[in-house]
Amino acid sequence: MAGIALAGTVLAILATLDPTTVRPEWSAAFLIVIVGSAAIAVAGWRWGVGWSDRMIATTVAALDLMVLASILANQDRSAALLNLILLLPPTLYVAVLLRPPFPRCQEIGVVAGCAVVAALIAADPVQWISLMLLPAVALVGAAETVLAQRRHLESMVDSLELMSMTDALTGVLNRRGITVQLFAAPPAPSGHLSVLMIDIDRFKEINDRYGHVAGDEVLSAVGAGLLAEIRSGDLAARLGGEEFAVVTRSSPADAAAMADRLRRRAVDWMAPWSGTVSVGCAGARAAGPDAVTVELLSDLMERADRCLYRAKREGRNRVVLEDGWAAP
Ligand code: GH3
Ligand code: MG
Ligand code: MG
Repeated sequence: MAGIALAGTVLAILATLDPTTVRPEWSAAFLIVIVGSAAIAVAGWRWGVGWSDRMIATTVAALDLMVLASILANQDRSAALLNLILLLPPTLYVAVLLRPPFPRCQEIGVVAGCAVVAALIAADPVQWISLMLLPAVALVGAAETVLAQRRHLESMVDSLELMSMTDALTGVLNRRGITVQLFAAPPAPSGHLSVLMIDIDRFKEINDRYGHVAGDEVLSAVGAGLLAEIRSGDLAARLGGEEFAVVTRSSPADAAAMADRLRRRAVDWMAPWSGTVSVGCAGARAAGPDAVTVELLSDLMERADRCLYRAKREGRNRVVLEDGWAAP
């Protein structure tokens, strides 16, 4: 935007140097255009990075007004209508970079500006309409084209982001997704964080007996079951192979109850293949907004994994809670 404003300053200075351009009674307006656009160029270049959308939209509106003033300040206002082209860069700038409602506000603003300027030039209503419509259609058309493309790109980015966090086979989160979503969530009032590591027992035998495709169906059934069973705010992920994790911020008592409920429900989900799961659980107090860290999550996963291996050693189809679980 600093570049657009600087270009405006240069154009305004060039126009002033031509004695046939500026209306003598409007020379003060031209001076304001030169000083104003130069000020915007310097301020935008120096501090613009930190500006809010509202501040940028206000600055763009000031640039728009200067373009309109440059037309009215011209000795030949009809010829100066060409200056309306200068509304295009700020309009596209807002359409590309600012959040709604600013792009549409800018469109309405430039159409209103075209209407006012055309009214001061046109000899009759028909001429007014054609003088106004030509630039208005071009500006709104260009802005709407950019907005449509922007919506398309934003929805593509949203679906790519979702894909990058989701396990394609089971529909639960993947390892990246669990971290992203955990840190996106607001801090839990309970002040706890627990990880349940869930591993299908003797999955290799299921694959060997029923085939790899059936093995995939088992994984999908477990993923769907987990999603249906966990509460909103809890996260379920497939970490790889036949290993899943549930991250919950429930109290230790609730997390332990959930672990055993999931173990029993898994028997139903995998009934056609007689599958079971083992679960290892580890938890920690995580009160306060900064308590949940990447280190805490990977530490809990590692500790829950050790409990999972104890569950396997102790005979499978069981839940092992970390020693000292739910201790005060
Ligand atoms: P344990 O009870 O000790 O966990 O034994 P297990 O057989 O479940 O564990 P193991 O690690 O020996 O075998 C895991 C198997 O999971 C081996 C691998 O072929 C299979 N597997 C990994 N990913 C997939 C997948 O995406 N689809 C299918 N069908 N099988 C998979
Ligand atoms: Mg297994
Ligand atoms: Mg495994």
